[in-house]
Amino acid sequence: MNIIFLGAPGAGKGTQAENASAELNIPAVSTGVILREEVASGSERGLKAKSFMESGGLVPDDIIIDIIKQRVAQPDCADGFILDGFPRTLAQAEYLEKSGVNIDLVIDIHVPDEKIITRMGGRRSCLDCGASYHVEYKPSKDAKTCDSCSAELVIRKDDKPEVVLSRLETYHKQTAPLKDFYEGRGKLKTVIGQEEVADTTRLTMEVLKG
Ligand code: AMP
Repeated sequence: MNIIFLGAPGAGKGTQAENASAELNIPAVSTGVILREEVASGSERGLKAKSFMESGGLVPDDIIIDIIKQRVAQPDCADGFILDGFPRTLAQAEYLEKSGVNIDLVIDIHVPDEKIITRMGGRRSCLDCGASYHVEYKPSKDAKTCDSCSAELVIRKDDKPEVVLSRLETYHKQTAPLKDFYEGRGKLKTVIGQEEVADTTRLTMEVLKG
């Protein structure tokens, strides 16, 4: 089964993609995580992507498509995969279709912009292992360091308030039209993001088992 999680930045699609991955036993592929690893390692791709990410814009389609092409060709994706943060443009969705990848289900996690702005203000990230926390909704045990690897937690540059607004604008302009694209193909299901992550997870599971 191949599944896409759509949704604005900070809507919780990463968390739901991880839950679905554990439930279905197929990998969750996050282009954001892969890009941050590339930036951290100083790779050529990472160097190209960095400024786009830090400004709240999108990394060019050719770089992203290259990343996805390589990742879904890995053996662990043979029985299906979950895409978190891809596609984000019509060109990326069209690439998937043309390359013959069948998408079974697209889940849009819907959260209004005002809620996203509050949520992202509280997000804390581990730059070493990529884990993500929230001061209110998902705190780490001691607030300052990562539960998994003990590295210091920071506010990602792209979680700063001015960048969050720019990311939301990018989402509405370039990614939200994908809802119509997949609706037209009969694949779209919407989950309304809840106050409690566990409630969103329950609703997402209902859709997955649908
Ligand atoms: P995320 O962690 O999914 O919010 O991604 C962080 C940043 O990586 C985004 O704000 C974009 O700059 C970039 N990015 C991630 N996925 C894509 C994509 N599919 N297309 C273009 N840029 C992307």
